[in-house]
Amino acid sequence: MEKINLNKLIKEAILKKKGISLSEYMKMCMTHPKYGYYTKQYPIGFKGDFITSPEISQMFGELIGLWVVQAWMDHNKPPEFSLVELGPGNGTLMEDILRATKSILEFHKALKITLIEISPSLQKLQKQVLKDYPINWKKNLSNLPNIPTIIIANEFFDALPIRQFVFKKNKWMEIIVSLKDYNNTKSNEFCFGLKKVTNLPQELNSFKQKENQIYEISSEIKKNIVFISKHLKKNLGACLIIDYGKNNNIGNTLQSVKNHKYSDPLEYQGESDLSSLVNFEAIKNYSKEYNLVVTKLINQGDFLKSLGIKERFIALSKNMEKEKIDTHVASLKRLIDYNQMGKLFKVLGIRNKKTSPLIGLEI
Ligand code: SAH
Repeated sequence: MEKINLNKLIKEAILKKKGISLSEYMKMCMTHPKYGYYTKQYPIGFKGDFITSPEISQMFGELIGLWVVQAWMDHNKPPEFSLVELGPGNGTLMEDILRATKSILEFHKALKITLIEISPSLQKLQKQVLKDYPINWKKNLSNLPNIPTIIIANEFFDALPIRQFVFKKNKWMEIIVSLKDYNNTKSNEFCFGLKKVTNLPQELNSFKQKENQIYEISSEIKKNIVFISKHLKKNLGACLIIDYGKNNNIGNTLQSVKNHKYSDPLEYQGESDLSSLVNFEAIKNYSKEYNLVVTKLINQGDFLKSLGIKERFIALSKNMEKEKIDTHVASLKRLIDYNQMGKLFKVLGIRNKKTSPLIGLEI
């Protein structure tokens, strides 16, 4: 039923505008206030459509907790310290961070936590999971307290809408979502199409004009990174971004996942997870003019190993029931092995120049 409603809305938008950009399509599918994918269901976890690192093992959140505490100590333990998470999903990462650092009372006393979550149902779930902690929720990044700030984002940026452009016969065209048959308005069949670009993003000017090459741009990623950069420039602090991605914007990286399997992005509107590979090079460029330190891009596996995941793995194994050991081993491998999440997932840090070098990334 809801799929039909969303289909209808998308179709109306397509008819009105003679095709909509991929980013408009993604936005409607993922975050439509009533029918969007994140709005109306619990997509993350074994029962959902996809699994994220914090859901694989508590070790992930515990190590990020350690990283955050280290950053707080490197700021000379300020009595007020802001911790912001973008797109907290089931709240598992924040729960593990807070549980693992519970004994550091001074740190907990200093914490001002803000969660940025667009989905009302996920906000509700996060409120349940994190009911013991004082937390502020916001739908988008805005008005953070002007105190030293750590911002963390695991698999947030890949969820933001992108636009795709292609250079054809001497001009830029945008890839749009269109209807297979405009005359048959009963048809729910969508297809990709091309449209001449009118509001050309400035960035396109710097791309190589190579026939048929697809480029991806996300103004949503830009908006978030510019906000973060301005905030970190004004205040001390750092941002930790963990996501799957690469160092360029070339090629079509749009993907749709339903029930742990790839699916057609033009089917199952609001029922499948649409995402794309994060272009870390663009993130670096967006924050460039704010005079910050942007770290090298590190593989997730190397980052977690340098924070001590193997030691934590051994410590947890000691009291573990025999039946659980196999899963524990598989979880470690899944997080750090290069043929699993260890290499595809990257970690990037951005920090104020006056903030100490970041552990696992710079030292
Ligand atoms: N970080 C979590 C969840 C990743 S899924 C984990 O690792 O498990 C992406 C998360 O970002 C979800 O919580 C989703 O609701 C949220 N989200 C997606 N688009 C958003 C937007 N535009 N603004 C704020 N949150 C958004």
